[in-house]
Amino acid sequence: MQALILVDIQNDFLPGGALAVPHGDEVVPVANRLMPQYDLVVATQDWHPADHQSFASQHPGRSVGEVIDVDGLEQTLWPDHCVENTPGAELAAELNVRGIQHVVRKGTDRRIDSYSGFFDNGRRKATGLEAYLRQRAVTGVDVMGLATDYCVKATALDAAALAFNTRVIAEGCRGVELVPGDCEKALDLMWARGIMVI
Ligand SMILES: [Zn+2]
Repeated sequence: MQALILVDIQNDFLPGGALAVPHGDEVVPVANRLMPQYDLVVATQDWHPADHQSFASQHPGRSVGEVIDVDGLEQTLWPDHCVENTPGAELAAELNVRGIQHVVRKGTDRRIDSYSGFFDNGRRKATGLEAYLRQRAVTGVDVMGLATDYCVKATALDAAALAFNTRVIAEGCRGVELVPGDCEKALDLMWARGIMVI
């Protein structure tokens, strides 16, 4: 059984949003077109409390893009984004949500950030996505969404590490590129871990 994982296709990651990924809106029609081809469609949703520790606003004197230590883990600081129960956290309005069977929320603990749909960044807690997929006899996942160099990368790497046959749909991904070349590096790393970029 093959599942499609839509990563963080949320208002705040689209142009005009709090943490806009350049051309992020272009992945929405790709998702809508591909969904009917899968047995199962799952979406991840970044979903933070208002005082989440990944927000630069929570660290006086720090600014967006800086990397700090939070509980022993490197944390890149972001603008406030995807605050729970706000319009920015909602899945993109143009996304065909009726085609999505299950939504996995991540980053819900204020102390812990989570790029991957499977685990938080320190792998301290699982989101339940692996169990959900195993219960449905999913053996392969195709991953797409936002952003290539963060949450798509982390989700695909974890899927491959969990022995799902993992592919990334390049046409359906866009990246942040805090540093130019980050997307290419992310794709190279995915290839190196046995993930097919299609
Ligand atoms: Zn986040």
